[in-house]
Amino acid sequence: MSTIAQNIQHIMSDIEQVQKKCERTRDSVLLLAVSKTKPVEAIAEAIQAGQLAFGENYVQEGVEKVQYFNQNAPDTPLEWHFIGPIQSNKTRLVAEHFAWVHTIDREKIAQRLNDQRPAGMPPLQVLIQVNTSGEDSKSGAGEQEIFQLAALISALPNLTLRGLMSIPENVPDYDAQLAAFQQLAALKIKLQEIYPEVDTLSMGMSGDMDAAIAAGSTIVRIGTAIFGARDYSNN
Ligand SMILES: *Cc1c(COP(=O)(O)O)cnc(C)c1O
Repeated sequence: MSTIAQNIQHIMSDIEQVQKKCERTRDSVLLLAVSKTKPVEAIAEAIQAGQLAFGENYVQEGVEKVQYFNQNAPDTPLEWHFIGPIQSNKTRLVAEHFAWVHTIDREKIAQRLNDQRPAGMPPLQVLIQVNTSGEDSKSGAGEQEIFQLAALISALPNLTLRGLMSIPENVPDYDAQLAAFQQLAALKIKLQEIYPEVDTLSMGMSGDMDAAIAAGSTIVRIGTAIFGARDYSNN
């Protein structure tokens, strides 16, 4: 078995154990394999191991990979998630190639993705990126903006509002991680009271997955623990 396959198996069993410990339903957490900077060969190995959902951060790189697998594995039901920052001049490519977008943090981006979603494709499944730390420098909507943005998204026919996403500050302490994730989980419950279709919390990466699942994550975004450390020298 390849290293990538072994890593996936390992993480799947970790996810299952944490779900059990927290008395959560089995299969209530999706493993999103974050393949940014990694070649199509690495993605192909993950697919061999049964992985179908992939996350990409950079528009051009992500689009090339989507097109590659559309051509070379047209019968494999892959699901591509865009999880990077979005500039408004790149929204068309995202709307044309991805099934999910995790990083909506302003109205202009939501409106453009809606307008540019090709007819005949299912609605784009979207998450609002939340700035849970409240720092101005980080991307993500603040708490008041979330509800304004949700109202706009829910009125757009080519977008489906599924929930919230965050990238909390990187801290090693489990309790601090848990507290940040619980804050996002509480916001999701408030949002769900207004928009019952909301069912998704995208939170947890290689270093804080367990705390995220304990707090109610439904999508963990894992890169390093599957594909190994990233090399950014070519980007
Ligand atoms: C890179 C990235 C990840 C994966 O991070 P790892 O620490 O490698 O697991 C998850 N989410 C987002 C938004 C990322 O940019």
